[in-house]
Amino acid sequence: MSEQSKEESVALHTCCGPCASACVPRLLECADKVVMVFANSNIDSAEEFERRRAAAQKLAERDGVDFVAIEYNHEEWLSEVASGFEGEAEGGARCERCFLYSLRKTAEYAAAVGIKKFTSSLTVSPHKNSKKVFAAGAAAGEGFLEMDFKKKDGFLLSVRRAAELGLYRQNYCGCEFSRNMV
Ligand code: SF4
Repeated sequence: MSEQSKEESVALHTCCGPCASACVPRLLECADKVVMVFANSNIDSAEEFERRRAAAQKLAERDGVDFVAIEYNHEEWLSEVASGFEGEAEGGARCERCFLYSLRKTAEYAAAVGIKKFTSSLTVSPHKNSKKVFAAGAAAGEGFLEMDFKKKDGFLLSVRRAAELGLYRQNYCGCEFSRNMV
């Protein structure tokens, strides 16, 4: 899809509320319905997962879109994604595997409920290589939309909207291996 054509429904993999705050308004310009999918078993503790989930749900309620949280399973993420890649720098192979894991969960959810298109808020962050996110999306399932949300000052928009809405903004990416990279 080009960003101009109209889609019926789009599932938005939501890495966090602040990033999604720049994506939802843009998606609503090109889709009739947006479902935020909080699929983030990369987060290092259930408490932090809940903090970020609550912020994302607050955004969904504010913007009038649907919200679903995929079951948190950090043990599975550690064994399927991080094992053997613990020492990788942020942006390296562990992160590519992490993108694929979360986008697969999103694609599986979208397919299960009949949503044909999905994309990700990960491209808002200047720390995330959009081409790597696109590659993971294409590998994750049918119907990935290559939307580079950091374009048109997307990150700045996310900072502004998150502050206006009082959304919790974390200071590390998510996994325990990213805690010493900030
Ligand atoms: S640093 Fe972020 S993207 Fe990379 S593996 Fe950890 S949680 Fe995933």
